[in-house]
Amino acid sequence: MKRSILIHPDPRLKKVCDPVADVTGELSMLAKDMLETMYDAPGIGLAAPQVGVLSRLIVLDCIKEDGAAPRPLVMFNPEIVAASEQTSVYDEGCLSIPEQYAEITRPAEVEVAWIDEHGKARQEGFDGLWATCVQHEIDHLNGKLFIDYLKPLKRQMITRKMQKLKRELARA
Ligand SMILES: [Zn+2]
Repeated sequence: MKRSILIHPDPRLKKVCDPVADVTGELSMLAKDMLETMYDAPGIGLAAPQVGVLSRLIVLDCIKEDGAAPRPLVMFNPEIVAASEQTSVYDEGCLSIPEQYAEITRPAEVEVAWIDEHGKARQEGFDGLWATCVQHEIDHLNGKLFIDYLKPLKRQMITRKMQKLKRELARA
């Protein structure tokens, strides 16, 4: 089932999310719904607070090549255990900040530990778009958005655009 995605500004997007104690049936269902919502958007990552659930859960799939097999990843309690000194810059966007993009610098490679959808502990290194995406989504679990890396003026400009968009959506 598709869920609706919160648009910034929303207080739920600024909250530090709670760790998941157990991968319950309810949370597995939420993860499935989030993947469906992400693919439908379309997007390459989605965090639980973006659908209004303040739990440490993200989903991602950065396979973009036509005809390539999808690689959906479900991560409960994801944690960056190591990050490279080398950085990379991506033009980032966010499903909660539609049609706004900005170049953000982050570590180029990260090692991430998480609990998968079967409750199994996993650890893996990511680079390229995957590294950027997983860091962007983990930021969401700490109430941080990509625009928080921008200078205040640029951030305020984007926030005002989003406030206008939300007023328009509310009227529609
Ligand atoms: Zn985002």
